[in-house]
Amino acid sequence: MGKPTGFLEFERTLPQKDAAESRKQNYQEFVHSYSDEQLNQQAARCMNCGIPFCHSGCPLGNVIPEFNDAVYDGRWEEAYQILTSTNNFPEFTGRICPAPCEAACVLGINKSPVSIEEIEKHIIEIAYKNNYVQPNKSQLKTGKKVAVVGSGPAGLAAATQLNAAGHEVVVYERDDKIGGLLRYGIPDFKLDKSVIDRRLSILEQSGITFRTNAEVGKNVPTSELQAYDAVVLAGGSTIPRDLPIPGRELKGVHYAMEFLKQQNKRVGNSSFEETEIHAQGKNVLVIGGGDTGSDCVGTSNRHGAKSVTQFELMPQPPQQRTAAMPWPTYPMLLKTTSSHEEGCKRYWSVSTKAFLGDEKGQLRAALVVDLEWETDSLGRPTKFAEVAGSEREIPCELVTLAMGFLHPQREGLIEQLGLKLDARGNVDAVEGQYKTSVDHIFTAGDMRRGQSLVVWAISEGRECARKVDEYLMGYTELASKDKLVSYA
Ligand code: FAD
Repeated sequence: MGKPTGFLEFERTLPQKDAAESRKQNYQEFVHSYSDEQLNQQAARCMNCGIPFCHSGCPLGNVIPEFNDAVYDGRWEEAYQILTSTNNFPEFTGRICPAPCEAACVLGINKSPVSIEEIEKHIIEIAYKNNYVQPNKSQLKTGKKVAVVGSGPAGLAAATQLNAAGHEVVVYERDDKIGGLLRYGIPDFKLDKSVIDRRLSILEQSGITFRTNAEVGKNVPTSELQAYDAVVLAGGSTIPRDLPIPGRELKGVHYAMEFLKQQNKRVGNSSFEETEIHAQGKNVLVIGGGDTGSDCVGTSNRHGAKSVTQFELMPQPPQQRTAAMPWPTYPMLLKTTSSHEEGCKRYWSVSTKAFLGDEKGQLRAALVVDLEWETDSLGRPTKFAEVAGSEREIPCELVTLAMGFLHPQREGLIEQLGLKLDARGNVDAVEGQYKTSVDHIFTAGDMRRGQSLVVWAISEGRECARKVDEYLMGYTELASKDKLVSYA
C-alpha cells in the first residue's frame, strides 16, 4: 500500500481530454496523460483493502493493488512485470476496457473507485518508453506447430502465450491487416492503430508468423490445418443482428460494421471495394445504444453529419446502482461516452417500425414509436407496449444498425470442420476447457462466448493457450488467472 491515507486525501481525477469541437476534426486519440504528481496520487488512492475485489472483477485477474503500490513508489519496471503477468496487451485494455475492475473496487462502495484503467495505460506506456517491452523469444523449442485462426485480441493472446511456451505459431487472418475488431471495428479515436502495430512488431520479433488475406475455409483450404499439432479458432462473432422491417432494403440502411470498418480502412489507407458509406451532411440515425452505436455516433460527427440521433429499445438505465445491480457486480448504468459528449440526441424506449424511402429507393425517414416498459420488483424491464399516438417520422438519410452480433459465421470454416455449435450458435466448447467437438481443435474469444469484450477475449486466449499446451505436452507452465507465475 503506497499511502495509507491516500484514499482520504485525494479525489479520483481522470486525465484531460481535448475539447469536443477540436477532437471532432480528426480521428486521433484525444485523452492526455496524467502529470507525474497526478499519477502518484491516483495510485495512492488504492487502499490495499484486504480482499481486493478488483481482482475478481477483472476477467484477467489483474493483480491491481500490487501494481498500484509499485506505481506509487515509481518502481516502473516492477509495475510493468506485475501488470503483464496477467495481461498480454494492457495498451489495449488501458484504452478501451469498460473496466469491470473499477466497478468492483472496494473504494467504489462509498467514493469514486481507483482509476485502475488509466493507471494501467500509464504503466504500459512508461514501459514502452523505457524499453521494458522486449520480444519474448522462447529458448525452448518443442517442435510442435499451432495454427491460430483469427488475429483479434483472443487470437493474439493465444499466439503470444503458445509462442512463449516454445511452440511454432502461425496466425491466419482474412483481413489485409492484423488485429480483428481492434483494427477494423473500434475507431482510431479510441484506439490509434499505431498501438496495434507497435505490439505486432514485438510479436513478429518474438517469432510468431502472421498470414494476412488468408481466410481459412475460403482461399486457404481447411485441410491445411491438418499440418498442425493443434489449432485455435478465434474468428470472432461476426454475424450482426438485423432489423427486418419494411424498407430495410433502402439505400442508406447499413449494418454498423459496414460503416465503421470502412472508416478505419480510410484512416489506415487500406482499400475497400464496397460502395462508400459517408455521413457528411446527412441526418444520421443510429439504432442500438451500446459501444458499437456510440462508435457510429463519434464517426458520424467526424464525417460532418448534419445531425446524429441514437435510439435504444430498452428504457434509459439508472444513474446509480439499484437493488438489481449491487456492488461488486458490473452495473448496467447510464453511460455517456466521449462520442455522446461530441453531440448526439439520445432516446430510449423507442422502436423502429419501418424505413421510408423516396422514389429513387433512397432512405428519407424512419417510422418510430415510443414504448412503455413494465418492470419486475427489482426494477428490471420485462414487457413493453407501444404508446398509443406516439408514432412519428424521424427524417434521416443514413441509418446504422448497431444491435449486437448473433454468432460466428458458419459458412466456410465452421461448416467445413463440422464443428458442434451451442444453443446460441457459437462454437461449442466448455469455458475453462476450450476444446471443440473436433480433436486437436480449440476455440476462444467471441467465437466461443459470443459477442463480448476485449478483456474477455484476451483472458480466453490466455486460458485456451494453457489447455492447448497441456494437450500438446501433457503439462503446462503457462500462467492462468487461477495460477499466477511469479512476476519477480
Ligand atoms: P475479433 O476481434 O472479432 O477477431 C476475429 C478475427 O478473426 C477477425 O479479424 C476476422 O477477420 C478473423 N477471421 C474470422 N474468420 C476467419 C477465417 N476463417 N480465417 C481467417 N481469419 C478469420 N470491447 C471492449 O472491451 N471495449 C470497446 O470499446 C469495444 N468496442 C467495440 C466496438 C465495436 C464497433 C465492436 C464491433 C466491438 C467492440 N468491442 C469492444 C468488443 C470487442 O472488440 C470484441 O469482444 C473482441 O474484439 C473479440 O475478440 P476476438 O479475438 O474474439 O474476435
